[in-house]
Amino acid sequence: MNPHIILLGAPGSGKGTQAVKMVEDYGFLHVSTGELLRTEVKKGSSLGKAIQKTIETGKLVDNPTMLELLNANCDFNKSSYILDGYPRNIDQVKALNQLDLVKHKFYALYFDVNMDALQKRIVNRRSCKKCSRIFNLAFDPPKHSSVCDSCGGELIQRSDDTEEVVKKRMTVYNSTITPVLDYYRGRKVLIEVNASKTPNEVYAELKEKLKMIL
Ligand SMILES: [Zn+2]
Repeated sequence: MNPHIILLGAPGSGKGTQAVKMVEDYGFLHVSTGELLRTEVKKGSSLGKAIQKTIETGKLVDNPTMLELLNANCDFNKSSYILDGYPRNIDQVKALNQLDLVKHKFYALYFDVNMDALQKRIVNRRSCKKCSRIFNLAFDPPKHSSVCDSCGGELIQRSDDTEEVVKKRMTVYNSTITPVLDYYRGRKVLIEVNASKTPNEVYAELKEKLKMIL
């Protein structure tokens, strides 16, 4: 069994794209906690209702809820997971220590992207209204502008994908991720990839680094 991977990287660092490739090539199971939360809310379970209430008030879903959700959806003894979206701050990192995941071999994989690259990436990002596929006008353009290659849906830009918003988001992100990186570095399980390059170049570097642990 491969080790588990905890994905770390700012919004727009391209970690989602890289996770898809890792799933295809190495057989990881990709768990997006954002997706788990949305699915649970849709189910309308008592847990889902509690989550909805928290999200509506603009608060972070608390750690016990996140752990319950992960335990219900993952068997860390059976499969190798890529955990995407959690943990995002040092409190969550410490909470995660209660899960089976960290009793196995695991690594934290950080997609390090510089501000200029990130801005370019985010302001060029378009997503399909229908199937949510993400395109990038600079790196991964659709065949026809504003039309999805997969389903023909309309491509739209998120209203918060602007330079100003990106800058603010990054400042907040950097201050919360630094203690997380320090923690995993201290445990000698941190792998860093330069994510400012093109997706293919990033994946090439990632594969080289994975060779050392898989
Ligand atoms: Zn589409």
